[in-house]
Amino acid sequence: MTADGHFKVPTPVNEPVRAYAPGDPHRKSLKSRLAELTDARTEVPMQIGGERRWGSSRGDIRSPHRHELTIAEYAVGSSQDFDDSIAAALKARKAWAATSYHERAAVLLRAASLLAGPWRDTINAATMLGQSKTVHQAEIDAACESVDFWRYNAFFGDQLLAQQPYNDGTAWNRMEFRPLEGFIFAVSPFNFTSIAANLPTAAALMGNTVVFKPATQTLLVTHFLMEILNEAGLPPGVINMVSGPASKVSEQVLGHKELAGIHFTGSTEVFQGMWRTVGQNLDHYRTYPRLVGETGGKDFVVAHESADSDALRTALIRGAFEYQGQKCSAASRAYIPQSMWKRMRPDMAEEVEAIPQGDVADFRNFMGAVIDGNAYAKHMNAIEFALKSENAKVVAGGKGDDKVGWFVRPTVIETTDPDFRLLKEELFGPILTVYPYADGKFEDTLELVDRTSPYGLTGAIFARDRQAIREASDTLVNAAGNFYINDKPTGAVVGLQPFGGARASGTNDKAGSILNLIRWTSPRTIKETYVPPTDHRYPFMDAE
Ligand code: NAD
Repeated sequence: MTADGHFKVPTPVNEPVRAYAPGDPHRKSLKSRLAELTDARTEVPMQIGGERRWGSSRGDIRSPHRHELTIAEYAVGSSQDFDDSIAAALKARKAWAATSYHERAAVLLRAASLLAGPWRDTINAATMLGQSKTVHQAEIDAACESVDFWRYNAFFGDQLLAQQPYNDGTAWNRMEFRPLEGFIFAVSPFNFTSIAANLPTAAALMGNTVVFKPATQTLLVTHFLMEILNEAGLPPGVINMVSGPASKVSEQVLGHKELAGIHFTGSTEVFQGMWRTVGQNLDHYRTYPRLVGETGGKDFVVAHESADSDALRTALIRGAFEYQGQKCSAASRAYIPQSMWKRMRPDMAEEVEAIPQGDVADFRNFMGAVIDGNAYAKHMNAIEFALKSENAKVVAGGKGDDKVGWFVRPTVIETTDPDFRLLKEELFGPILTVYPYADGKFEDTLELVDRTSPYGLTGAIFARDRQAIREASDTLVNAAGNFYINDKPTGAVVGLQPFGGARASGTNDKAGSILNLIRWTSPRTIKETYVPPTDHRYPFMDAE
């Protein structure tokens, strides 16, 4: 029997961030879970149709700050597993779509409370170990943002269902929010546990079933996320987690007739490749797949001469170097008046040089390691390029050490060339390039910021002068989907600053908002006429 009632999803409140200061009991319990997981060599199978599968072979997951340490063994899936994951999603679809919205939302709300409570230490510790996040970076992402995504999405989905057409008294018009016809492919990046929590579940909340391919580097924590969802009562087959070579999974999934949507976060290049493949397969699909992708960034900070330089310096250090600059929103290019830069450079260099970096299990560190050897090589090459360039100099950092972990020192580069390569390309590491602009050239600089990079994700203006703030906001109207005034361009909070950007940064469907949930539903309009006409003729046809 279906239960009737206008159920209201509880209004969410953002999950409070724990401090983990010395003496805090949460610090002790997290440290003990971290120690357990360090030695556990956790097994991470795929989860397909509720079944744990080991695929064709096994791979190792290493900790970025201790690359000799294997923290998990994961299943490398075969093409049979990938086919089976699609079949499992399609099989579960009918029953899940027939489950009422409020029951689906209840699963997410329960999962949120499990994560916020008994699973919190595990999820934070796995993120610290697997992605080299400090305790604070793990807490704001893996614990708080994941919980916020689940609670807010449940709430926003309910608001979406309330969007109903008007009536004129002759019929009852209704809108039914059906899931898309087919299955959804969710693909998440290495840098945010909360994105792995959000991508498959946002689609599942709206009644879809999902093939989920997390980034390999995050498999330890995504394994635990799946366990939370299982414990919360998500039925088998609704989210099927696969692992293995991304291009193989992708080839099979994107070639399937029933692909109904892609929920992706990662690099621009990969998303564009997927979009092209979908375009080539268009004739083959039952329906137009919805393509939602949040991708790269080259996020700016512009300072006006009226800016508070202490606030600016702090925002640059936090915005560029927290989580080793591996945030799509990280400040990676700054435009500062020459005289202000000259005054602030010594303090900035000194503070950056003093940043403590190392194993994240030592809570005194502000930074850990970059994700892997490829990232390390990419960042060290960029630094090498700057060191050799005639138009640039390294003001702080500029070194790396890969003996124990993939450590790249936070690096500040200054350039005299407004077209310097490192002002344009996304590096996704702890490297900030500063272009000191001629004093008084604020307006020209805004134009420069707008045209220098192909991205449009985040950006910030620092100024006390209102006119300068307005000019920046106008000229940079399409340069960022998340625009900050006197704040760093990172740290968006679900429900407070809906996140996403356009241009090469993505489809700007604002994760964790009603705008994103709209993409996972295909509404059906129903008109039920009370008294249907019984004669096809109209009065205008009558004789005069
Ligand atoms: P990535 O593109 O290398 O990988 C992302 C995911 O795509 C992973 O799961 C990977 O296995 C998979 N993948 C790789 N090749 C694939 C293919 N051919 N077909 C299908 N899937 C494939 O990105 P990453 O290094 O994990 O993450 C960093 C990138 O993500 C940066 O560019 C960053 O800006 C972006 N990012 C954007 C946002 C945002 O909201 N805009 C948020 C986080 C990260």
